[in-house]
Amino acid sequence: MNVSTLARQLKITSSELLEKLPSLGFAIGARAIKIDDKLVPKIMAAWKKSEKKEAFKKELSQVEERGKEDKDAPIKKEAKEIKIGETIVVKDMAELMKFPVARLMGELMKNGIMVSLNERVDFDTATIIAEDLGFKVIKIDEDIKEEISKKEKLEALLKKRDTKDIKAPVVVVMGHVDHGKTKLLDAIRQTNVVDQEAGGITQHIGAYQVVTHNRPITFLDTPGHEAFKAMRSRGGQIADIAILVVAADDGLQPQTLESISVIQKEKLPFLVAINKIDKEGADIDKVKQQLAEINLMSEDWGGTVITQAISAKQKTGISELLDMILLIADMAELKADDQGPAVGTIIESHVDKSAGPVATVLVQAGTLKMGDMFFVGHVSGKIKTLEDWKGMSIATAKPATPVRILGLKELPAIGEILEVLTDKKDFKDRLKTSAGKNKSWRPTNTSTNSDENGEENISVLNLIVKSDVLGSAEAIEEALSKIKVPETKVKVIKKGLGQVTEDDVLSAEATQTIIVGFHIKENKNVQALANEKNVTILYFDIIYKLLEDIEQRLKNIKSKKTIHKFLGRLEVLAIFKKNKDGMIIGGKVVEGKISKNAKIKVLKNNEVETIGQLASLQSARENVSEVAQGNEAGLEYKGDPIIEIGDTLEFFEEIYE
Ligand code: GDP
Repeated sequence: MNVSTLARQLKITSSELLEKLPSLGFAIGARAIKIDDKLVPKIMAAWKKSEKKEAFKKELSQVEERGKEDKDAPIKKEAKEIKIGETIVVKDMAELMKFPVARLMGELMKNGIMVSLNERVDFDTATIIAEDLGFKVIKIDEDIKEEISKKEKLEALLKKRDTKDIKAPVVVVMGHVDHGKTKLLDAIRQTNVVDQEAGGITQHIGAYQVVTHNRPITFLDTPGHEAFKAMRSRGGQIADIAILVVAADDGLQPQTLESISVIQKEKLPFLVAINKIDKEGADIDKVKQQLAEINLMSEDWGGTVITQAISAKQKTGISELLDMILLIADMAELKADDQGPAVGTIIESHVDKSAGPVATVLVQAGTLKMGDMFFVGHVSGKIKTLEDWKGMSIATAKPATPVRILGLKELPAIGEILEVLTDKKDFKDRLKTSAGKNKSWRPTNTSTNSDENGEENISVLNLIVKSDVLGSAEAIEEALSKIKVPETKVKVIKKGLGQVTEDDVLSAEATQTIIVGFHIKENKNVQALANEKNVTILYFDIIYKLLEDIEQRLKNIKSKKTIHKFLGRLEVLAIFKKNKDGMIIGGKVVEGKISKNAKIKVLKNNEVETIGQLASLQSARENVSEVAQGNEAGLEYKGDPIIEIGDTLEFFEEIYE
C-alpha cells in the first residue's frame, strides 16, 4: 500500500505518518513510498492505540487535581479494605480509596490500562492496582454492594445530625424457622396474626410499636422463613436491638447460627428469647449450653448474654423480655436527633390499585411531616398521607416511628433511604439531576443473572415472578436461587408487582418461561391467552409450595436430555435485510433439508457464534415449509443479526428425551 493511501485513511499527511511511525515501533524509512501490506493492519492498530492513549492523556490533563502537594509523597501503607463488585467505575474506585482520580488513572496507565474516569475496570484489574497501592480488596456481589452503599449513605446522613434526644429502640426478631418469631411478635402485639397466615409464614414485612413503662418500643415485623433472609439482614441494619428466638425443644439450628452471624456482623446488641418453654421436651439449660459452646455464655452462667425464657404461646415471660429490651436500650444509649428534616429507611413498598405507590418508612432522624418534600433514591415525592402502624392519620413522626406514606412519584426500592429536603432550590436541583437516571425498581424488565457463559450443560428454567408486594418477589427470587438441583438453574427474567399481564404471557412465550404468581388472583383473559400460547402460569399462596413445585420441575428437566437433531445446512449467499433482532437472507441448501420451525446455528469458520430461529421460509418466491438439498432458499431469521455472506447456517430441531 502507498504511504499516502494509509495516511489518508488515518486522516493525516504522509509526512506526519512517516514521522510518527518510528515511535509506534515501525522503522520503514523516512522517505518510504510504499508500506508492506502485511504491516498495514498492525500500523492501524498501533495508531488507534496511540490515539486512545493521547485522548486519555488529554482527559487526564483536564481532571481537577486535588491534594496535589502530596502527589509524590509515599502512599500510606495501612492495608485499608475496599469492597468491589464485578466491575467498578474508575471515579468511584478513586473515591472508595480516597485517592485523587488523576493519580489512579496514572497508576492504571502504568499497568497498560487506558481508561477514562467514567469507564469501568473489572474486579481483577481493580484488585491488582489497589493492592499495589496498599489496599486489601474484597469481592462483593452486586446486591450486597447496593445494600452496603445504602447503609453507608444512611450512616453519613445520620452522622451529620445531633444525637441528643433519647429514641425508642427498634427491635428485630430473628431465629430459625418455626422457633416462634411470628408467635412472639404476635404475643407482644396481643393480636393473632399467625392463624391468618397461609402456611404459617409471614408474607409481608411491617412494623409496629408497643408501649411499656410509658416507653415505646418499635418492632420490625420481619418474616421468619428462610426465604426472607435478604430482608432479615436488612432488618439487622436498621434495628438497634435483636431478639434471637431459640425454641427450647429444638436448640440452635442453622438459621439460628445464620442470625447470630448477622447480629455479630452488624454489631447489634441482642438478647436470646428461649421460647416454647411450655412444651414437653423443652430444655432451657441445653440451649444455654449450646450458646456457651459458641462463646455466647448466658449472664446467669457468668457470661454477658442476656437470656429470657418465654412461652410465646402462653404469653409468659413477655413483660420481662420487654424490660430487658429497655435495659439493653439504656445501656446502648440509643439517641437520635428528633428535630429538623427527616431521614428514614423504606422497609416496605407496594403499588396500591387506587392510591398508587405506598411505602412504609422507619424514621431514623428528624421529624417527618405532612407536606414534606423528599427524595427516596431517585424517586421524589411529597408526603400526602402519614399513618401510624394502626392506620391512624398522624401529623408528624419522630425517630423510631414506622409510618405509612403516600405521595411517592414512583415505587421506591426497599432499603432505600428517604431524605426530606426543606430547601426548595435543593429539591429542584436534585429533581434535575435525578431526571432520566431513575434507577428505582420498575415492575418490568428486571433481569437478573447474567448469561451462562461456559455452562452449556446447565438447563435453565426461566421464570417470571409476579407478587402482591415487592418484598415477596425479591425474597422469592433469593429463595429460588438457593434451590440446588444439579445441572439446572432457575433464572428470574422478570419480576414485578400485581397481576400477571398479557405482556408477561407474551414475553414468557418468546423466552420459554413459566410465570409464577404469588398471592395474586387469576385473570381469565390472561389465562386464555396463556392457554393459546402454551404458556404455564402457576399461582401460589405459600412460599414453600412454590419452592417445592419449582424444585420438582427442575428435577424433571434434569432427567430430560436436550438433543439437537440435525436437519440441514445452508450457505449464505445474500443478505436482503437486517433488523436489530433479525435478518432476511438468501442461500443454497448444501446438505439435508431445512424445514419450518427449525432452529438455526450460525457458523463462522466452523464455530457456532449464536443460535436463532427460522421465522419463515421461501423458495422461488413462494412460502414453503421445506427446502431440500441443492435448492436455493430465502428465509427470515430471528436472532442476533450477525450473519454475513459466506457464513454457514445449520438447521436443527431441539428435542428433549
Ligand atoms: P416462626 O417461623 O419462627 O415465625 O414460628 P411461628 O411463630 O410461626 O411458630 C411456629 C409454630 O410454633 C407455630 O405452630 C406456633 O404456634 C408454635 N409456637 C410458637 N411459640 C410457641 C410456644 O411458646 N409454645 C408452643 N407450644 N408453641 C409455640
